[in-house]
Amino acid sequence: MARNLEDFIKQNYKKAIERHEIQAYFQPVIRTSSRKLCSFEALARWIDPELGMIYPDEFIPVLEKERAIHRLDAAILRQACARIRSSITKGETPIPISVNLSRLDFTLCDIFSVADQVVSDYQIPHDFIYFEITESVMAEEQEMLKGIVDRFRSAGFQIWMDDFGSAYSSLNALKEFSFDEIKLDMRFLHPFNLRAKRIATAVVEMAKSIDIHTLVEGVETEEQFRYLRNVGCEKVQGYYFGKPAPYEEALARLQEKGIGTEAPHERRYYDEIGRIDFLSAVPFMTREEHDTITTARQLNSIPLALAEFASDSFSVLFYNSAFEETASGTELFSIALDQEMLSQPQPYYLLSDKLINLIDSVKTGGDGRMLFTSNEEYFEVKARCMTKSREKYCVLIQLTNLTRDTQSENTAYLDEFVRRINDIFDRITLMNVRDNLIRPLNTTTKEDLLSGRYGIRERVREYAEKYIYPDDRAEFLRQFNPQTALDRFAVNGCVSFSELFRTSVGHGQYAWMEYTLLKIDRDNYFLLMRNVHETVTGFLRKNKVKVDGDGYFTPSHLWNNLLRSNLLRLFWKDRDRRFVGASQAFLDYYGFTSIEEILGKNDEEVGWHVHPEAYMNDEFQVINEGETIHFMPGLCMNEGENKEILASKTPLYDANGEIRGLLGFFIDRELLTVNDRRGTEIPRRDLLTGLLNSRGISEEATVFRDEYYMRGADFVRVHIMINDFNAYNEQFGFDFGDKILNSLGNALKEGFGHTCAVGRHAGLEFVVLHQVKDEKEAHEICKKVKAIGDSVRQVDGVPVTLYLSVGCSLFSESHNLKEQSKRCELRLHADRDHTVSAQSSLAHASEIFRLFDSLPFSYCVYHVSRERTDEADDAVICYVNHKFEEVGGASSGEVFGGSVRELYPYVGEEWFANVKRAAWNDEKAEGILTGAPDGKRYRYTARQIICPGYVAVTYQEEKS
Ligand code: C2E
Ligand code: MG
Ligand code: MG
Repeated sequence: MARNLEDFIKQNYKKAIERHEIQAYFQPVIRTSSRKLCSFEALARWIDPELGMIYPDEFIPVLEKERAIHRLDAAILRQACARIRSSITKGETPIPISVNLSRLDFTLCDIFSVADQVVSDYQIPHDFIYFEITESVMAEEQEMLKGIVDRFRSAGFQIWMDDFGSAYSSLNALKEFSFDEIKLDMRFLHPFNLRAKRIATAVVEMAKSIDIHTLVEGVETEEQFRYLRNVGCEKVQGYYFGKPAPYEEALARLQEKGIGTEAPHERRYYDEIGRIDFLSAVPFMTREEHDTITTARQLNSIPLALAEFASDSFSVLFYNSAFEETASGTELFSIALDQEMLSQPQPYYLLSDKLINLIDSVKTGGDGRMLFTSNEEYFEVKARCMTKSREKYCVLIQLTNLTRDTQSENTAYLDEFVRRINDIFDRITLMNVRDNLIRPLNTTTKEDLLSGRYGIRERVREYAEKYIYPDDRAEFLRQFNPQTALDRFAVNGCVSFSELFRTSVGHGQYAWMEYTLLKIDRDNYFLLMRNVHETVTGFLRKNKVKVDGDGYFTPSHLWNNLLRSNLLRLFWKDRDRRFVGASQAFLDYYGFTSIEEILGKNDEEVGWHVHPEAYMNDEFQVINEGETIHFMPGLCMNEGENKEILASKTPLYDANGEIRGLLGFFIDRELLTVNDRRGTEIPRRDLLTGLLNSRGISEEATVFRDEYYMRGADFVRVHIMINDFNAYNEQFGFDFGDKILNSLGNALKEGFGHTCAVGRHAGLEFVVLHQVKDEKEAHEICKKVKAIGDSVRQVDGVPVTLYLSVGCSLFSESHNLKEQSKRCELRLHADRDHTVSAQSSLAHASEIFRLFDSLPFSYCVYHVSRERTDEADDAVICYVNHKFEEVGGASSGEVFGGSVRELYPYVGEEWFANVKRAAWNDEKAEGILTGAPDGKRYRYTARQIICPGYVAVTYQEEKS
């Protein structure tokens, strides 16, 4: 490099970054299976007014030498975030962007915190930013880097390995670090000969086998593109699809080429497809099976295809040569297979009905299998749904020619056998005790279509819990425990035995079924099931076998039925008021999964009453005085609200007549009133989330207020809102928006459920009421709310990042419910202004501000926070022009984001009041600023700019 260029770079890079002369250019990354844009890579370009374009190869080494590269990387990240922010704000499809990190970033600063701060300044969902790290980063200081990489990843950012294969340590790095994606260095492809192809193939295959996505850089021809697509490479980047260009230009060029943009909800779908190891049969094999296959040739010889099914068309995404060869002899697929037609929609009539049925049957999960004959040969088709999106799903298909495949002789034999006994039995299951495999061979139900699963004992247990009548379960498990069964065969020398069990036939009904275990050979057994209900009940009737004792139900029978039913919410406690037992209906009402959760606890320990004392007293009355209490009204926390219940309790006497505890039940008052008034009642619940609605919340609030006055228990009200919620609505549709609200609602309910009231009002705001001791605890609650927001990472399989605004107020602050709610709103908006509007407006504004760069007087833009009771007003610097830098003696980089109170302590309250008035009331405000270090007086004028909260201030020297 010319000496003087290097010097130029050294002297000017700071200014160039500040003045946006170093800009991010964007190069498209294309998804091979859909040929759509899936992300951009941001690449730095220095556009000097005199020298013109300077490329990264020239300035990056210099910045690294100057140990300033992290400033560039942060600036490029900021520009990338601003782009995404502006798409979100404008309601356009935001496109994920990858940015490059230099290996020095990791030592020059706390790069994770720097990056995370920028991303949250702009409130960008974390799955929209990817970080590329060159493999040479990995060499030194491995442990430290590993920690940082893990921090990025656990915060939901993807980390990509850039230039894979350009240095000798690539494979090592892959072993040491967890990456989401590798970018194959473009040198792999040049020249694009057989060797290049083989290497690319092997790397793609290897990456998939360790669950890493693949991208190849430097793709320049259609030939390269097709080859890479066919070996399963997921994404490509290169001049063939577009050179790096300014954002709008890059988008326009793609549009000219007819390349669309992937919607955010499609991303997960395609990522799942990308995981599929096309080149091998791994998807249909178990680990064990796979491990016995050692050569790639063996794997590649398994015929596989991948196809996508939408409501009115399907498209084949991929098939390997083995599939093509096998399918060519059949009528089943031949028309649909054609390299030219890959990814193109085709009509359903090209597929046989049988095949469509098979595909339908796996839509909801599981494997499907189908046999068919063609030209007197026997074929098997296996299908599995690999991933789904809203409008389509993707199925992997394996085709086997059974006639030729000698290994499948057994399968053919079994299949023949199955057909004959098919008519007699409702369900035929094959158990292979050697491999511990259970495989339904034929069933009348569609759900568990023929999928083989490991672990006979666990599967049998699962089955018993789901289908066998509770009283018969233990016996069923005893009989069909593989060990007992084998023993039975050994001891008796028999080849089969049968037992009767009542089995669920849906709708809560059970029918008598006969289960037969039939030995086929040493390892294989059939478990056969058939319905013998008629015969058995007939037999029972004929032989006058009464269901119970005298033809009536015994007390224990009644009791067991009562506990199982959802008729009564029953519970019983010992003398210390600790739970000893409860009915299923009771547990269901409170959402307990088992009695264990409350066993041995009293009400206070379960923590569900706002004022447990009331109950404590009447329980003591029951236990100590032997009283029975009828329909005592009270409140308890359930599903995030105070429920009015009517509880009845009576003493429990033992055989000696001593009180040993109490027996009680309760009813939900709401249910009674609903029944009474038949819908005249105004609903308290929000239909979408099942949380309280506005009315429900205000009723709850009065309960909390009464508690405050009666017992002095203070409570906090928290208002919660999702920032950018509308962007989600626009990007994913209103249904998805509803799902987000639902997820957050559920998360809040789960996080707080038993201890407070949770509701939703005004469409997208949530409210939490919670008893607290003091302000500190109130802030803990707010923190918990934000943490709950963070915990919602996926909605309907789509990754999301929810940024929440929160405002809270204690009842004791105002002693007035209305006032409390108003304070919450104000603080909520302050919280929001602080983040969203500030950054989103800035993203738009930074372009405009540059117009003021060379004004002859000082010009500065501030963001002023609205009144927050806990803080004094401050103004944050968003922009300063050159004159301001000159007068103030500090560069914009140094003051940007800084607070006026900290930077300029001499600025008086009058200035703050004026600036705030301008920012929020849209009035022009003027004044004189004194006390500056240069001793001069400045006349300033402040006006609102862009949106409320922002103010532009000019300073002119006042000559006296
Ligand atoms: P990279 O991250 O591997 O970026 C890919 C480079 O390949 C880019 O060069 C791009 O213009 C070029 N390229 C893309 N497609 C093709 C193609 O089909 N054929 C050919 N011959 N080249 C293609 P660029 O923009 O000059 O960047 C060079 C390197 O500079 C980047 O390599 C990256 O390591 C570094 N770099 C660029 N911007 C930044 C940045 O903001 N921060 C850091 N730390 N490094 C950066
Ligand atoms: Mg890169
Ligand atoms: Mg690269």
